[in-house]
Amino acid sequence: PVVTRFAPSPTGFLHIGGARTALFNWLFARGRGGQFLLRIEDTDRARSTPEATEAILKGLDWLGLDHDGEVVSQAARAERHAEVARALLDRGAAYKCFSTQDEIEAFREAARAEKRSTLFVSPWRDADPATHPDAPYVIRLRTPLDGETVIRDEVQGEVTIRNDQLDDMILLRSDGTPVYMLAVVVDDHDMGVTHVIRGDDHLNNAARQMGIYTAMGWDLPVYAHIPLIHGPDGKKLSKRHGALGADEYQKMGYPAAGMRNYLARLGWSHGDDEFFTDAQAREWFDLAGIGKSPARFDFKKLENICGQHIAAAEDAALLQEIDAFLEVTGQLPLTEAQRDGLGRALYCLKERAKTLPEVLEKGHFVLTETPVEPDAKAAKALDTVSRGILGSLTPHLQNASWTREDLEAVMNRFAEDQGTKFGKLAAPLRAALAGRAATPSVFDMMLVLGRDETLNRLTHAAA
Ligand code: GLU
Repeated sequence: PVVTRFAPSPTGFLHIGGARTALFNWLFARGRGGQFLLRIEDTDRARSTPEATEAILKGLDWLGLDHDGEVVSQAARAERHAEVARALLDRGAAYKCFSTQDEIEAFREAARAEKRSTLFVSPWRDADPATHPDAPYVIRLRTPLDGETVIRDEVQGEVTIRNDQLDDMILLRSDGTPVYMLAVVVDDHDMGVTHVIRGDDHLNNAARQMGIYTAMGWDLPVYAHIPLIHGPDGKKLSKRHGALGADEYQKMGYPAAGMRNYLARLGWSHGDDEFFTDAQAREWFDLAGIGKSPARFDFKKLENICGQHIAAAEDAALLQEIDAFLEVTGQLPLTEAQRDGLGRALYCLKERAKTLPEVLEKGHFVLTETPVEPDAKAAKALDTVSRGILGSLTPHLQNASWTREDLEAVMNRFAEDQGTKFGKLAAPLRAALAGRAATPSVFDMMLVLGRDETLNRLTHAAA
C-alpha cells in the first residue's frame, strides 16, 4: 500500500510550492487507494508558530487536500528520535563525540591551511569507549569514508554522492535533542511512508537520510524530488510572479478545482492535457510524468484553467465557493434574494469568467436592486436620447411572451423602427438593467430578471 506525506515546517503560510508538493503526494496516494499523511515539522521552536500551522491547515482545506489520520507533530516525538539515536549507538552505527566547538574550529583551520577538506573527522570515531571522558557529547552517525551513496530518484534519476563528501553528521545534540535529519527519517519510517515526494532542495538531504535508514536496517522509501517552481522569466519565483500563500489565491478568487488542476500541471504532465477533473488527475498522476526542469508559474494559464473550471462547475458547488470567497475576503454574505438570483443567473455568468469576483461582477445585475445605480461608464450610456429610446421601448415589451425568440424579435423590430441596429440599443439597455457597461447578454439579463423587474428598471432609467 502506498503511503505519502506532506511535511511542512510551520514557519509561514502555505506557499505555492508547498501546496504543489502536498497536491502531488495527495494525488499519488489517492489514485492508488493509499494514504496521505500530514506531519508538521515543528522542531525549530524559535521559528515555528501555531498561526503558521493554522494557515497551512486552512490552505490544505481550501484546496481540498484531505489527509488521513491525526496530524503528526514532529516536536512531540523527540523522545522517539533520541531512542533511535541510542539504538544506532548500540549497533555501533553511531558513536559519541566529545570534540568541543573550539576543537572542531581548530581542525577546520588546520585543514584550510593545508588545503585539505574541511569536513570534520572526529578523533572519537574509532576511540575505545573506555577512554571516553565524563563530559558532554553529541552522537554522530558513522558514515563510510569511501564508496558512494546512490540516490535512485524517480525524477532525477541516479544521483551519486561520494561518501567522502559527507561528514559524520550529528544525530543527537549534547543537550539530548535530536536533529532534524534524524527526525525526518524516524518519522517517515514510523509512519510507514513508502514514497517521499518533495522539493529538490532536499535532494542532498536524501543521501544523509539514506545513511540512517541503512544503519537501522530499514527499507528505503521511493524518492521523487521535484524541481522547484520558477517565475515566468525562469528565475526564482518572486512575489510579483506568484510566490504567494495559498490564501492569497483564494482571496483573488481562483476556484479550488482550477487551482488544483493548474498546480498539477506545474511540473507534471499527461500528454497535452491541460484541463482535467480531479478524478482524471487522480487516475493519471504518476511519478514518470514529473518533469526534470523547473516549471514556470504563469498567471495567464492559471486564469485560463480556472475559467474552464468555473464554466464546468455545478451551480450549487459554485455558489458555495462564492460564499466562502465572500467570507475570506471579508465581504457581506449574499442575501437570500441575491443567492437566489445568482443561482438563476449562473448559467450565463460561468462562461468567460476566470475568477469568482468576475462571476460576481458579471452577476452584478442580480445582486443590485431597483433603482439601479449606474457606475460612471454606464451613466454615459444613459444620455437624454437613450433614455427617450428606453422609454418608447417599454410598451413594446409589455406584451412580449418573454422567451428568447420573442424578445429578440421585439427588439429587432423596435430597432428597425428607430432606424438603428439592435447593437446600438445594447449599451443603454445594459446600463439600465445592470448599471454596468460589461454584462451578460441583454436577453439573458431580461430572462433572468423577468418581465416585471425588467420593465421596472427600464422605466426607472427612462425617467
Ligand atoms: N519540512 C521540510 C520543508 O518544509 C520538508 C521535509 C521533507 O519533506 O522531507 O521543506
